[in-house]
Amino acid sequence: MESDTFTKFDVVVIGGGAAGIMAALSVKKHHPDLSVAILDQTFELGRKILIAGAGRGNISNSNLVHGPANFFHGNQELISSVFSQFGYKEIMDFFDNLGVPLYEEKKSDKGKLFPYIDHAKTLRNMLLDELVSKGVNIFCNTPVLRGVHGDNGWSIESKEIIFRSTYLIVSTGGKTYPALGSDGSGYEIARSVGHTIIDPVPCAVPVVSKNQLSQLLQGEKMVMRAEAFLDGKNVSESVGDVMFTQYGFSGPAILDVSYEISIRINRIKGSGASILLTFFPRYTKEEVLDELKKRKEKHPGYLVSHLLWGLLTERISNAVCDIAGILPEKKAEELSEIELSNLLSVLTSFESEVTGTRGWNEAEFTAGGVDGSEVDPKTLESMKMKSLYFAGEVLDEDGMVGGYNLSWAWASGWVAGRLGR
Ligand SMILES: Cc1cc2nc3c(=O)[nH]c(=O)nc-3n(C[C@H](O)[C@H](O)[C@H](O)COP(=O)(O)OP(=O)(O)OC[C@H]3O[C@@H](n4cnc5c(N)ncnc54)[C@H](O)[C@@H]3O)c2cc1C
Repeated sequence: MESDTFTKFDVVVIGGGAAGIMAALSVKKHHPDLSVAILDQTFELGRKILIAGAGRGNISNSNLVHGPANFFHGNQELISSVFSQFGYKEIMDFFDNLGVPLYEEKKSDKGKLFPYIDHAKTLRNMLLDELVSKGVNIFCNTPVLRGVHGDNGWSIESKEIIFRSTYLIVSTGGKTYPALGSDGSGYEIARSVGHTIIDPVPCAVPVVSKNQLSQLLQGEKMVMRAEAFLDGKNVSESVGDVMFTQYGFSGPAILDVSYEISIRINRIKGSGASILLTFFPRYTKEEVLDELKKRKEKHPGYLVSHLLWGLLTERISNAVCDIAGILPEKKAEELSEIELSNLLSVLTSFESEVTGTRGWNEAEFTAGGVDGSEVDPKTLESMKMKSLYFAGEVLDEDGMVGGYNLSWAWASGWVAGRLGR
C-alpha cells in the first residue's frame, strides 16, 4: 500500500499488552524527548492483565528474587540478561512507585505476588493513566498488517492509517485467548524481516486423556501430584489442584506439567505421553499402605470405600474402589492382598495416556515464537534488522504458571524500551 499521508512517531509499539505498555513507559523514562505510539488491534489495552490471577492480578513472583527462577525453556542467556536488568526488586519498585504495592500470597506457598488491592483492573487502569500522563499516544482498534523498513525508517501499515517511525517494538503476544487480541499476527511481522518462528504451541493447557477417574469424577478437584511422562520417562511434576473434566484433566498442577506434553503432541506430532497422578502427594507409597492396613485393622466391618473417608471425599473414594475393582458391598476384613495392592496402585500411581491438549482458547501462554537466539540478549534488538525490538510473549520464552509470564512481559518490555541504551 503506497500513500503520501502518514502519522509519524519516533517509536511505534505494536501491541499494548503488559509488555507493550511497559516498553512505552520505558521509552519515555530513558528517552523522554522521543514521541511514542502504541497500536493495538482491540478496543482497549492490557486485556490479559485483567484476567491474571482470576482478576486479582497475579502479576509477578517472589522467587525471582534469586534470579530468573522457573523459566525452563527458551534462550536462558536472554532470560538471565533481561531479569538482571529488571528483576524482582525493579518490578516491586516499579509498582510501588506507580502506587500499587505488591504483596506475596502466603496461602499458596508459591511466591505469587498480587497488587495490594487484589484487583487487576485497578492496576491496569493505573498503567493506562501513567501512559497518558507520560504523553504516550494510544491507537486502539488499529490492527497492524505489516511493518516494512525502508530509507525513511519503518512504515507500519494498519487498516486505515500508515504510521512511520524510527524504532519499532513488536510486543504482539502469542496465540492464546485470541479473543483478547493476541492471534499470532505479530509473528508475520518478525518473519517478514527474516526471523525464525519456533512453531508456537499452547502451553499451560488442560490435557485430553480419556480415563475412568475423569469419567466418574467430572467436576471434582483435589490436591494431587501430577507427573508428566514421555515414553515412560518422568519429564516434569507439580503438586496442586487437579480437576477432573469430561475430556480429561485440568487445574494448576496439570497446567504446570503440560509443556513437554504439548510439544510432543502439537509440535512433534508424536505419541507416548501420559499423566501419572498420586492422591496423597505428601506421603510415600509405603506410608499410604501402612495407613490402609491400620484402618483395615481398626474397622474390619466397614465397607472398603468407607475406610478412605476422611482421606478422600465419599464420591472420590467410591470412584477409587470402583477402578480398583472392589465391589461396593465388600467389607474391609474381606479385602484380599491383590485388592489392597490394586487400591494402592490407583491411589498412588494412576496413569492415563494423553492423546491431545485443549486449544488456544484454554491455554495460558504460548511455547514458541520469535527465536531468542536471533535477538541481542542485552537489548532485545533484532539481529536481523537494526531498530527493531521484541518484548513479551511474542518471543520464544515462557515461565511457569504463578506470575512468571507477566514478570517476563514487564522485564522484557522495560529492556526493549531502552532502545539499546
Ligand atoms: C487465562 C489466562 C490467565 C493468565 N494468568 C496469568 C497470571 O495469573 N500471571 C501471569 O504472570 N501470567 C498469566 N497469564 C499469561 C500472561 O497474561 C501473558 O503471558 C502476558 O499477558 C503476555 O503479555 P504480552 O504483552 O506479551 O502479550 P499480550 O498481553 O497478549 O498483548 C499483546 C497485545 O498485542 C495486540 N496485538 C496482537 N497482534 C496485533 C496486531 N497485528 N496489531 C495490533 N495489535 C496487535 C493484542 O491485541 C494484545 O493487546 C495468563 C494468560 C491467560 C490467557
